[in-house]
Amino acid sequence: MICENLGINHMGNLTLAGRDTVELAKKYQTPLFLMDEERIRKNYRTYIGAMKKYFGDDALPLYASKAASFRAIYKIAMEEGMGIDVVSCGEIYTAKSANFPMEEVYFHGNNKTDFDIKYAMENGIGYFVADSREEIDAIDGISGEMNLCQNIIIRITPGIDPHTYDAVATGKVDSKFGFAIATGAAEDIVKYALSKKNIKLCGFHCHVGSQVFDSDVYFKTADIMLEFIADMKSKFGYETEILNLGGGYGVRYIESDPVIDIEANIAQVAKMVKEKCSELRIDVPAIRMEPGRSIVADSGLTLYTVGSVKVIPEYKNYVSIDGGMADNPRFALYGSEYTVAVANKMNEECDFLCSVVGRCCECGDIIQENVQMPSSVKRGDTIAVMTTGAYNYSMASNYNRLQRPPIVMLTKTGEYTAVERESFEDIIKNDL
Ligand SMILES: *Cc1c(COP(=O)(O)O)cnc(C)c1O
Repeated sequence: MICENLGINHMGNLTLAGRDTVELAKKYQTPLFLMDEERIRKNYRTYIGAMKKYFGDDALPLYASKAASFRAIYKIAMEEGMGIDVVSCGEIYTAKSANFPMEEVYFHGNNKTDFDIKYAMENGIGYFVADSREEIDAIDGISGEMNLCQNIIIRITPGIDPHTYDAVATGKVDSKFGFAIATGAAEDIVKYALSKKNIKLCGFHCHVGSQVFDSDVYFKTADIMLEFIADMKSKFGYETEILNLGGGYGVRYIESDPVIDIEANIAQVAKMVKEKCSELRIDVPAIRMEPGRSIVADSGLTLYTVGSVKVIPEYKNYVSIDGGMADNPRFALYGSEYTVAVANKMNEECDFLCSVVGRCCECGDIIQENVQMPSSVKRGDTIAVMTTGAYNYSMASNYNRLQRPPIVMLTKTGEYTAVERESFEDIIKNDL
């Protein structure tokens, strides 16, 4: 199994957090997102424990909540003592409605509107991660009108290609995100931000990409960022308080993905950061990291029901399910790999090669290609797609006017519905 919270019970059914997924599919109907709350908490604790232990007490992981944003997730993050990243007023609103304290909220995005900026400030947002000169002007202006001095950190592009997919590689010089060190843009914007009266520059952020397995990427990133911090100190006398190293440790979607020891990785990065700081004669900044996927991905799985099995002799076989790109667009978007299984036939031999496709009217509505299943697969069977806790519900749409599935959270003692299934009324809610 790709994650230790998965198993097979005496009935030959797939279990998540020790619970029979086939029974849960019957009880809640499909499509259905299941999440394992203990796994989320364990992942949070891995980051918090390791960061405090190796970087010191002023270090803090921020949950990048675009990975999965709904009230229960913010509540769990708050209980575990995480900070959070948000990327829109909708996420701020959701976090706030779950009573998440706004001081440790970081507002990301390459194009925040004046409305966004005002809304965030009125709600007491901790930090903006500023990503353009226009944004800095707007924050300074609005902050002045409101008689505030707003904390910001600036997004810097260290110029690193983390060898992941292009769609999730964001640290390269030509990225739409950040100010590049290499072109001098980063230095210019620091000077500019320091000249603004209603802004407090608290430090720097960088994020080189997602699904990173290679710890070298973080060494290189930290190395470049610390050199930059030392440079800003010598040029402007500026002392950096916060250095945010970004997110992106990889998770296992398929068997061949490596297992990452996150604690050991953080320990190594911390050692390197401390050595580099002493070499550069700068104080070690308060470190932030912002994992999203590696907090929630392996807590989740999606259950579907098979509707049809179509065999096109000598060409291809299709297994159609009652969900698809509307609840998981990631294969359609960038060919993401997933482990797929027939949850009620876990002990049967898998010798039937097929594509698992959704119910949307779109040829690209594919969940996964080249899946091996038991040849007995048929209408009514339960299909499980593993590791869907991140970027599934949060990317889900109502395409074809399909209702978004519910999220049922499995706990130590039982389960609760964290997000309800959308109703037909929800679908027409905004139609006049
Ligand atoms: C998406 C994102 C993250 C989280 O990436 P994961 O792969 O989910 O860990 C962190 N920081 C920023 C700026 C992001 O855009």
